Amino acid sequence: MEINKLLCRGYQGIARVPDLSGLSQWTEEDKKMEDLIQRTAEQLIKSKHAITLTGAGISTESGIRDFRGPDGIWTKNPEAERKAYQSYARFQENPKEFWIETISSASLLGDLAKVAPNPGHVALAELEKRGLLKCVVTQNIDNLHQKAGSKRVLDYHGNISLLRCFSCDTRYDRAEYDLDRLYKEDRLPPLCRKCNGVLKSDVVYFQEAIPSDVAQASQEEAGKCDLMLICGTSAAVYPFAYLPRMARQRRQGKQTIIIEINADPTPLTEEGISDYLIQGKTGIILPKIVEEVKKRIS
Ligand code: NAD
Ligand code: ZN
Repeated sequence: MEINKLLCRGYQGIARVPDLSGLSQWTEEDKKMEDLIQRTAEQLIKSKHAITLTGAGISTESGIRDFRGPDGIWTKNPEAERKAYQSYARFQENPKEFWIETISSASLLGDLAKVAPNPGHVALAELEKRGLLKCVVTQNIDNLHQKAGSKRVLDYHGNISLLRCFSCDTRYDRAEYDLDRLYKEDRLPPLCRKCNGVLKSDVVYFQEAIPSDVAQASQEEAGKCDLMLICGTSAAVYPFAYLPRMARQRRQGKQTIIIEINADPTPLTEEGISDYLIQGKTGIILPKIVEEVKKRIS
């Protein structure tokens, strides 16, 4: 990635989170980082309708691996990615077999019920509580934004703690169905109480349509926000990755500010979709933004 090329395209900043351990003097990089954090805090305070988009990166500090980072599940195991692309077709072919396989094998992401939110999730919930963030649109299925206290969360790729009817789209709390018991009694797949349709996990599989309620609400949010904070996503999965692009198009007339917080630059950085990237860990940067907000409005 050439920084000059990015600057030519209207790219306004890039800075890495410094490792301050053992350092007594701040470098230029550190100063630039602090400036961008302050700038984000100020822009959030001035915004009228700020939203955040999040991806797997915001949950890595909770111990859930991402897919495409250096230690990502797909990066380390391309076979698992190939299999994931077949999940939807396999579910449609034979929901019972699919459920048996799901229940009897370990989840790629581990036992998400035991995972706790990290300071990045908590910081976003705090910004919402202060009225500075109107909505979280997340690609994550891990339910950690909700556990951290965020109220308006659009689970773009579904939520692992829910089941969704394949026929009528009604969602149920997973805890309402004793899946282990249904498995032992040979009564899988679980069935919808409203229409008797087959239930699948609410999690959206590759090749599956985004549930229309979430797709529509996310599109509306991207269309009306004046600030978009994009945290921990490679912005490689579509149609989610259209959302920043929609906001960017709107910006030409209406001034939407687009900020990325990510460990690495992304296509959004490289294409100049984002105004600037704060490069580093969301679990460190987001709480710093909250600190800066608190200094300005108590
Ligand atoms: P991704 O794996 O494609 O990209 C993650 C990005 O986050 C990478 O650019 C990586 O460098 C960055 N990152 C990693 N740790 C970070 C940190 N601590 N701070 C800041 N940045 C960090 O993830 P994606 O873009 O969300 O797309 C993956 C798809 O897989 C999504 O659709 C999502 O539904 C699913 N997924 C979800 C989870 C989850 O629910 N926690 C986990 C893995 C994958
Ligand atoms: Zn139904």
